[in-house]
Amino acid sequence: MESSFTITRIRGIPIGVHYTWLLALALMSSSLAAQYFPSTHPGWPRSQYWIVGTLAALLLFVSVLLHELTHSFVAQARGLKVHSITLFIFGGVSNIQSDSEDPQDEFLVAVVGPLSSLVIAGLCWLGYQAVPGSTGPANALLGYLWLINLMLALFNILPGFPLDGGRVLRAILWGTSGSMVKGTRWATYVGQAVAFGFIGWGVLQVFERDFLNGLWIGFIGWFLNSAAEATRRQVEAQETFRGITVARVMQANPPMVSPALPVRELVDEYILRRGLRAFPVARDGLVVGLITLSDVKHLPVEQWDANTVGAIMTKPPLKTVGPGAELRKALDLLVTEDVNQLLVVEDGAVLGVLSRGDVMRFLQMRHDLGLDR
Ligand SMILES: [Zn+2]
Repeated sequence: MESSFTITRIRGIPIGVHYTWLLALALMSSSLAAQYFPSTHPGWPRSQYWIVGTLAALLLFVSVLLHELTHSFVAQARGLKVHSITLFIFGGVSNIQSDSEDPQDEFLVAVVGPLSSLVIAGLCWLGYQAVPGSTGPANALLGYLWLINLMLALFNILPGFPLDGGRVLRAILWGTSGSMVKGTRWATYVGQAVAFGFIGWGVLQVFERDFLNGLWIGFIGWFLNSAAEATRRQVEAQETFRGITVARVMQANPPMVSPALPVRELVDEYILRRGLRAFPVARDGLVVGLITLSDVKHLPVEQWDANTVGAIMTKPPLKTVGPGAELRKALDLLVTEDVNQLLVVEDGAVLGVLSRGDVMRFLQMRHDLGLDR
């Protein structure tokens, strides 16, 4: 998630905080201090409400973090990579490697989240019961925490993808139908239905003049709806790539250029004449770099005659991919490494170049031929 800063790392997982989280923290603290605690625990000095209110809001986010950490730990235990956890205004999100091939992984990773919130709620409830009739801050905090964690568990178990309950539903549909795409399609439709339920509920609240609550609930619905739709689109797009290997899309046997070649000549004889954007640079048959259109663009035109390819090329380590790799994986690599092309290498030999343009052209051709319907 953009605009977030990392506060710490737990088991190698960066824990990030999005700037909207600060807004949520301020809103939560003030509503707890001004309304909630004065109603449940009357008679405190004003400053105490603010201290306990802020503490309660922080502990709510600790609860959310614990919930996300259980998702992440189970994911790690199942051999999935966890990229990060981010806290933001609607709670938390674990960024877990998404190409799991196993519905059981998805089921377990999803189901432990609400369970962890239930366990936290139970522990806080026990603590709350241990000191009956107390009117102190500890009692107030425990009373709030068991309730809010119970609500977290109940909210997350709703079958609306991308909520945990929706992921559980997807895992079950995926497991029974044997198709991840089908499971995702149905789980996201149900997710959108739940999202519209939230939006409708929000509108009702606004009509009943509870504007802030109505707006909040409506926003949650809007957020869930767009997340469900985006996931369905993404999974369907990935499906177009299924079974297609890099070798089918790459530019095979690209012309190699010498590092001693003047840049001007590269532009005239190779880039413009052949219409290619990237060439492996080889000396005595050994690849020593990659020269691309963007390397050339960074050099002013006046200097094209005086410079050679070797001076401006992208030097190793170069991003490479095998010819048998799935196109989907290669595309992921292009995006995550933020490069425009990959060298296709097998047993140390360069077989081709795969660029973003090649992938786009391939998709366009398939579309024009009606193969992606
Ligand atoms: Zn969760």
